[in-house]
Amino acid sequence: MVSKRCSHCGGSGVLRLGGHSFRTCLDCLGQGSLADHLAAPRDISAA
Ligand SMILES: [Zn+2]
Repeated sequence: MVSKRCSHCGGSGVLRLGGHSFRTCLDCLGQGSLADHLAAPRDISAA
């Protein structure tokens, strides 16, 4: 299983907005890594 580290949050799952503010990374949904089905959503419609 291949998992790619999210480049937006750096794999932490949260985005630093500055100071003590944090927000869940919507790109990886706070997982810190991108799953295959998220990286290639077009494969679903291919079937
Ligand atoms: Zn992320």
